[in-house]
Amino acid sequence: MNGKAAHQGTHRVAIIGAGFGSLSAAQALTSAPAQITVIDRKNHHTFQPPR
Ligand SMILES: Cc1cc2nc3c(=O)[nH]c(=O)nc-3n(C[C@H](O)[C@H](O)[C@H](O)COP(=O)(O)OP(=O)(O)OC[C@H]3O[C@@H](n4cnc5c(N)ncnc54)[C@H](O)[C@@H]3O)c2cc1C
Repeated sequence: MNGKAAHQGTHRVAIIGAGFGSLSAAQALTSAPAQITVIDRKNHHTFQPPR
C-alpha cells in the first residue's frame, strides 16, 4: 500500500513551525484520525534560556 492509499479518507493536517506551540499541538493530535505533518524552516528544535 502506498502512502496515498494508506491515508485515503483521513484528514491531512499541516502544522507550520516546530516551536513549543506546534509540538504541543502535534502531541495533542497523536490519536486523531489524521495524517499530521510538522514543517519548520530549521531542522532542529532548540530552546536556550538566557543565563
Ligand atoms: C531569549 C528568550 C528566553 C526565553 N525564556 C523563557 C523562559 O525561561 N520561560 C518561558 O516560559 N518562556 C521563555 N521564552 C519565551 C518562549 O520561548 C516563547 O514564549 C515560546 O517559545 C513561544 O512558542 P511558539 O510555539 O509560539 O514559538 P516558537 O517556540 O518561537 O516557535 C516558532 C517556530 O516556527 C518556526 N518558523 C517561524 N517562521 C517559519 C516559517 N515561515 N516557516 C517555517 N517555520 C517557521 C521557527 O523556526 C520556530 O521553530 C523565552 C524567549 C526568548 C526569546
